[in-house]
Amino acid sequence: MSYHYDDQNIFAKILRGEIPNSTVLETAHSLAFNDINPLAPVHVLVIPRGPYVCYDHFALEASDEEILDFTRAVGQVCRMLGVQADDAGDGCRLIANAGANGVQEVPHLHVHVLGGRMLGRMLARA
Ligand code: AMP
Repeated sequence: MSYHYDDQNIFAKILRGEIPNSTVLETAHSLAFNDINPLAPVHVLVIPRGPYVCYDHFALEASDEEILDFTRAVGQVCRMLGVQADDAGDGCRLIANAGANGVQEVPHLHVHVLGGRMLGRMLARA
C-alpha cells in the first residue's frame, strides 16, 4: 500500500503562502507555527515542507536531510518555547496523530508540541 498526498490540505496551503500562519520557526525543510485552536499555553505544530501524509510516510520516503532537519526542528521548538524536559524546562508532550484511529484531521504530517501546563496522563482508558 502507498500514501496519496492531497495538496489541497490546509497545511499545504500554509506552505504555499495561500493562507496565513503564526510562524514560530522556519528551517530549510520544516515549518513550525502556532495551532489555531490551542489546547495548552504552548501548542505549536511542526511540519515538514515536503508532501508527507503522516510519520510512517515521512520515514519511508523523506531524505535523510529532511528527517534530520525535522527532528532537530521539533527539539529546537521545544527549547525556544522553554518546554524542554531538562533542568530549565517543565517538559511537554509531542503528538503525531495518523489516520482514522489516530483522529488525524489534517493529512500532512505534523507533530503537536504541547506544554505550559500539566497535561495529565496521555490517554484515558477506553
Ligand atoms: P490533527 O487532529 O492532529 O490532524 O490536528 C490538526 C490541528 O491543526 C488541530 O489542532 C487544529 O487546531 C490545527 N489547525 C487547523 N487549521 C489550522 C490553521 N489554519 N492554522 C493552525 N492550526 C490549524
